[in-house]
Amino acid sequence: MAKYTGPVCRLCRREGEKLFLKGERCFTSKCAVERREGGPGQHGKRRQSFSDFKTQLRAKQKVKQSYGMTERQFRDCFDRAVRTKAVTGTELLLNLERRLDNIVYRLGFGSSRAHARQVVSHGHVRVNGKRVNIASFNVTVGDVIEVTEAAKKDISIQAALKSAEARSIPEWLTLERDQLRGTVTALPTREQMPQSYQEQLIVELYSK
Ligand code: SF4
Repeated sequence: MAKYTGPVCRLCRREGEKLFLKGERCFTSKCAVERREGGPGQHGKRRQSFSDFKTQLRAKQKVKQSYGMTERQFRDCFDRAVRTKAVTGTELLLNLERRLDNIVYRLGFGSSRAHARQVVSHGHVRVNGKRVNIASFNVTVGDVIEVTEAAKKDISIQAALKSAEARSIPEWLTLERDQLRGTVTALPTREQMPQSYQEQLIVELYSK
């Protein structure tokens, strides 16, 4: 399925909660979830009935949209999780958290995951001293992620870093803000990953 390119605030309104897809705006009163009630579109305010399938589908869409992935990328992540011996749902979330674009976002080098993906794909990020421009690159414990010297003065990266001061850095990452450098000190536990995700419903959906 093609990547969604429409207004991203509609995605948040569809899920009825903030997915933080627009950077700094998400933390202001301009956020569409705060300003407008109900789902997007003409019938957005109608009461909706939820079948099991619809509940599972919404749980999957929420996680998929949060990480800005296409259906195929998300399914690949899930299939990789299935092939491990770990708990599939937790492993799926771990695969998503370990993506380089997510780490760049978590460290504050990107204002949103979409911006972080752009920072990575434009070659502004080094992992352990080597330039990596693949957003889906999987980081591991001990990896050092830093913005390249040339990109350190990039206005959008500086703005992202400033706006990220409002959100906390996950416990499993350390940040040297002055150096624009971060280290993965551990992989996140389920408790350290977003609590609103219902990964078991995603497993049920894909197991049909
Ligand atoms: Fe979602 Fe951010 Fe738009 Fe609010 S401002 S609806 S959190 S993308």
